[in-house]
Amino acid sequence: MNDEMLPVALDDPMQFNCSPDNPCFNQCCRDLNQALTPYDILRMKNAVGLSSKKFLREYTSRHTGPGSGLPVLTFKANPATGHACPFVTDSGCSVYNDRPASCRMYPLARAIKKDRVTGEIVEYFALIEEEHCKGFGVQGGRTVAQWLKGQDVACHNTENDKILELISLKNQIRPGKLEAAEEDLFYMALYDLDEFKIQIAEKGLLASMDLPGEYMKKIVADDLSLLNFGIAWIKYQLFSKDLGIGG
Ligand code: SF4
Ligand code: SF4
Repeated sequence: MNDEMLPVALDDPMQFNCSPDNPCFNQCCRDLNQALTPYDILRMKNAVGLSSKKFLREYTSRHTGPGSGLPVLTFKANPATGHACPFVTDSGCSVYNDRPASCRMYPLARAIKKDRVTGEIVEYFALIEEEHCKGFGVQGGRTVAQWLKGQDVACHNTENDKILELISLKNQIRPGKLEAAEEDLFYMALYDLDEFKIQIAEKGLLASMDLPGEYMKKIVADDLSLLNFGIAWIKYQLFSKDLGIGG
């Protein structure tokens, strides 16, 4: 493949347009190799009305990052369809409103860096031109920033950046592989949220931590609060960081 990467700025014109009329319609969903983030899983499992356990079993494959030892999730390859996404249909994406961040960003790639002085996140973007994608070179009359807004990707980026920060922390404190049991904790707290909830609400997972009752109610009632707690809990459990919640 002869892919090209072109750095772009937010106020550059977005010379790209994706449309069902393009001859490549859906091709980008038929040869997948993308990592799914915890927030991607949260959104999609709720969109299809499955528990995280059922969603993960039915639609995803779990791998271990070779350097990090952390779980990496991808869509499960279906032998009947090669590497096609389980949610692609002839008329497009069946989970469009809840599609993963990588689907929203495509064909843009995004990298981030924390400003050493302000601590603010600085974003960098590049267009990745792949042979199969025929949307390039079309003037859609929008800037990169306007195109991104149309993809409604901001909240995905906000949530996914927290995971990048967690991975960076892990690599600083515990470079190399985790123990299998630690990897399982990471998987449960970030990806298998319904199991995490059961462990908290029914199995007394946090009983010794004396967390405020209102806080406990909130994390078992709301998946996003639970995911954010899961990130803090993993930092506490595996990397000895303060939980940051009053007891
Ligand atoms: S989730 Fe939707 S947009 Fe993403 S690869 Fe699957 S079908 Fe395509
Ligand atoms: S291959 Fe490119 S232009 Fe074609 S449907 Fe996918 S993103 Fe759109």
